[in-house]
Amino acid sequence: MAVNAGSSSIKFQLLDMPSETQITSGIVERIGSDNALFTIKFKGEKHVVETPIKDHGVGVSLILEGLIKHDVIKDINEIEGVGHRVVQGGEVFKDSVLINDQVLQQIIDLGEMAPLHNPANATGIKAFKAVLPNVPQVAVFDTTFHQTMTKDAYLYGTPYEWYTNYGIRKYGFHGTSHQYVSEKANQLMGRTDTKVVVCHIGNGASLSAVQNGHCVETSMGFTPLEGFPMGTRSGSIDPAITAYMSNKLNVSAQEITDVLNKKSGYLGISGLSNDARDIESAILAGNERAKLAFDIQAKQIADYIGSYYVYMGGLDAICFTAGIGENSPVLRQMIIDRLAVLGVKLDVELNKLRGERLISSVESKVKVFIIPTDEEVMIARDTMRISQD
Ligand code: ADP
Repeated sequence: MAVNAGSSSIKFQLLDMPSETQITSGIVERIGSDNALFTIKFKGEKHVVETPIKDHGVGVSLILEGLIKHDVIKDINEIEGVGHRVVQGGEVFKDSVLINDQVLQQIIDLGEMAPLHNPANATGIKAFKAVLPNVPQVAVFDTTFHQTMTKDAYLYGTPYEWYTNYGIRKYGFHGTSHQYVSEKANQLMGRTDTKVVVCHIGNGASLSAVQNGHCVETSMGFTPLEGFPMGTRSGSIDPAITAYMSNKLNVSAQEITDVLNKKSGYLGISGLSNDARDIESAILAGNERAKLAFDIQAKQIADYIGSYYVYMGGLDAICFTAGIGENSPVLRQMIIDRLAVLGVKLDVELNKLRGERLISSVESKVKVFIIPTDEEVMIARDTMRISQD
């Protein structure tokens, strides 16, 4: 079972391994409220129940009872491993890991750097451990794939002691997705000595540069705020703006950081929505700020790709993934148009299609792919590998 626990939700998928077939998926939402929701999808049917869910423990019990009630499994012992997505693994975790009390404590301690995510991930782990005490639980981190970056890429130009004493460096996120997609790109190209850029563009968005299967650069940093504008995040800005705006608006630095995380990006620039579909419709209706939201993002993404081209000394493939990367021909075209100098060119007709495919034109010097991501499969693969070690 692949689990992604948030502060008030638990998303899950049950997969048959090693065939990697998805058996069922679902979500418990609004944990802590009297009208929480439990949704489970099985054999093409979707079942939704509204019920009070006091805490994550009750949510996990509901999921396991639901699996039996809907005949997904006959007995909870059929679940042979649980893999948990954990956002921040710091420099401690260079690989996924079997969870014991010490590992759980380290995940909680790393919550200092990821206060919105790690505590919630840890709560999910505890809830599953309580109900399935004899089943191996594995932590799969968003950060481990990026641990192969070298110091020139992961250190900032800040005092070195900030790194040694406080862990200030670039960690990167969405690692399971970047790994899944870059491995798939190598399979599609039939070799592993490659230079690949993965564009994971969803509500949260990041890029990675992957050379010979190893991550060498990524756009997110110490937190997921760094990089280019996303649904509600600003991406990188002049750091002096935080103190300046905190003064102007007479609010704390934390409140400015909240605006940069939650009210910027598509939402802040357009003033309309954080959803790419709304931005696209507004562009079609002639809304200039919506157009600007896509333009600013496309410009910055192209800048990153250009710098990765230089850093890796070339480029074999650009891969688009996640909600927007997989589904927005408009944004893909806007990005690739800005990369014409690299000899990259889309096939306009292929770019209109969906699903895993090559979308570059025959004369393009760099291949462009759409590769739907599958973070749950990565979690399930690691859970199987680690629990069998
Ligand atoms: P996250 O996992 O970060 O929440 P997703 O990867 O699910 O995000 O991506 C969500 C984004 O994908 C939303 O902005 C949504 O508008 C966009 N999206 C989904 N389908 C389409 C589509 N058909 N066209 C354009 N954008 C889409």
